[in-house]
Amino acid sequence: VAFALTASAQTKVIAHRGYWDCPGSAQNSITSLQLADKIGCYGSEFDVHLTSDNVIVVHHDPTVDKTPIQTSPYKAIKKATLKNGEHVPTLEQYLKAGQKLTTKLILEIKKQKVSSHEDSLVDETVAMVKKYNLQDRTEYISFSGRACERLHAIAPNAKVYYLNGDWAPQTIKDKGLSGIDYDGKVLALHPEWIKQCHDLGLAVNVWTINDLNDINGFIKEGVDFITTNKPVEALKLARPLDR
Ligand code: MG
Repeated sequence: VAFALTASAQTKVIAHRGYWDCPGSAQNSITSLQLADKIGCYGSEFDVHLTSDNVIVVHHDPTVDKTPIQTSPYKAIKKATLKNGEHVPTLEQYLKAGQKLTTKLILEIKKQKVSSHEDSLVDETVAMVKKYNLQDRTEYISFSGRACERLHAIAPNAKVYYLNGDWAPQTIKDKGLSGIDYDGKVLALHPEWIKQCHDLGLAVNVWTINDLNDINGFIKEGVDFITTNKPVEALKLARPLDR
């Protein structure tokens, strides 16, 4: 365990689309959120889209079965089921479940095809998080720079991380964002960005790291967060001394 003793004790684990790689769960299901909390993840990541009638739904793909979320009313998708039998959750249902937990809600605003629709998704998401008084437990991520800047503008105290990998740390700092949340391949090309972020007071998250050697490598490099489909294993590596 020599690596463990030199590893950063601060690396935290985020379950990618919740903890779903186990019986009875499914990606982006309420169960996956509850299980990520139960196993002790720092956070549980999930994705949101906005229906044509302004219902925020938790789902990764832009379609549910073959129905496009952004251009369909909620009633067209509400009866669809996930692999574990749950219906596709609304953000409201997700936040209500999250209120009973302690894990952070790592909320990804999915890019929407129409900018004004994406702006509505950002605005209504922030309003709903506020309605359920979850501002301190919600952190935002997005591949959309537009969404990140809008999130920061309307929720200046919220943590907002950019996913798309093409903004250097100084750009993130200049835009007032909290840090980077980049593909492991991007950080492999730009290992210097980890220290640059930390020197600027920015946090570093890396996705989606499932190989245990890679998880160890990023822990050793001192990243703040690892987003993974293997949260049980990652937690053991990130916190070897208290397990
Ligand atoms: Mg996501």
